[in-house]
Amino acid sequence: LPGPAVQALQHADVAALLPVPGARSDKYRRGVLGVAAGSARYPGAAVLAVAGALHGGAGAVRYAGSAAREVIARFPETLVSTGRPSQAGRVQAWAVGPGAGEDASARVALEDALASDVPVLVDADGLRHLKGLGRPARGALAGRTAEVLLTPHAGEAAALLDVAREDVEARRLEHVRRLADAYGATVLLKGSTTLVAAPGGGPVRANPTGTGWLATAGSGDVLSGLAGSLLASGLSAFDAGSAAAYLHGLAGRRAAGRDGAPFGAHELAGELPAAWRDVR
Ligand code: AMP
Ligand code: MG
Repeated sequence: LPGPAVQALQHADVAALLPVPGARSDKYRRGVLGVAAGSARYPGAAVLAVAGALHGGAGAVRYAGSAAREVIARFPETLVSTGRPSQAGRVQAWAVGPGAGEDASARVALEDALASDVPVLVDADGLRHLKGLGRPARGALAGRTAEVLLTPHAGEAAALLDVAREDVEARRLEHVRRLADAYGATVLLKGSTTLVAAPGGGPVRANPTGTGWLATAGSGDVLSGLAGSLLASGLSAFDAGSAAAYLHGLAGRRAAGRDGAPFGAHELAGELPAAWRDVR
């Protein structure tokens, strides 16, 4: 018999997914995440994506883009470069798009990442450029050997599908599945209940953690880095998206506190280690 169409993520399932370094681990075997995010206009998105990535289980984070100075000032452990992703050195996954802007360099960054043989997460402005690459069926995703994880909110999902945002919001389950099939990619549809769907059918996962206080600027950038890092550590796109949504929601609840209070996305990133311990 087929299982339920929607499965609520369980604590124990997420705990089993989180990578734990062993005696023979080194930073390269743990995985290196490449982050191509931020721009002169939105340097903070790069900082927040890297903040999320550093708490995602990869052994190292490489940043490639125009906010290298801001990233290194905040996170000295990051390997930074100012060029395009194809010149950044070997990584095990890419996270592309937060705050990347609409200009050609952001499109090139997406194309470079998609031309690689490693999994790629695409978010925010990266999703706009993905749409611009043309029809998904014969687009840049078709010939890939590694997975793609798209992380739209409802508005971004609507743009990718050429439908109204209200339609996505009214029937989120239908649209997350449709988007996954249309692009041949795993899709994490953000919202008060984040949904994760793999292409080709199968159950959709629903994240039970989180809080409305997560609806704050930069929150999604932190999620991109976190999910990208889990991809780099070897999780499938479905598992990386699921575990990231769960941890992100727990961190949001911690940041908001018992009585609930607003927080900034940098504070959310600061709660990720505690969220990780909550799960383990
Ligand atoms: P973004 O729109 O890219 O900044 O991402 C916003 C993040 O906040 C996503 O992880 C959403 O799932 C989360 N979020 C937004 N609104 C809510 C809400 N009302 N309840 C819970 N989480 C939310
Ligand atoms: Mg966003």
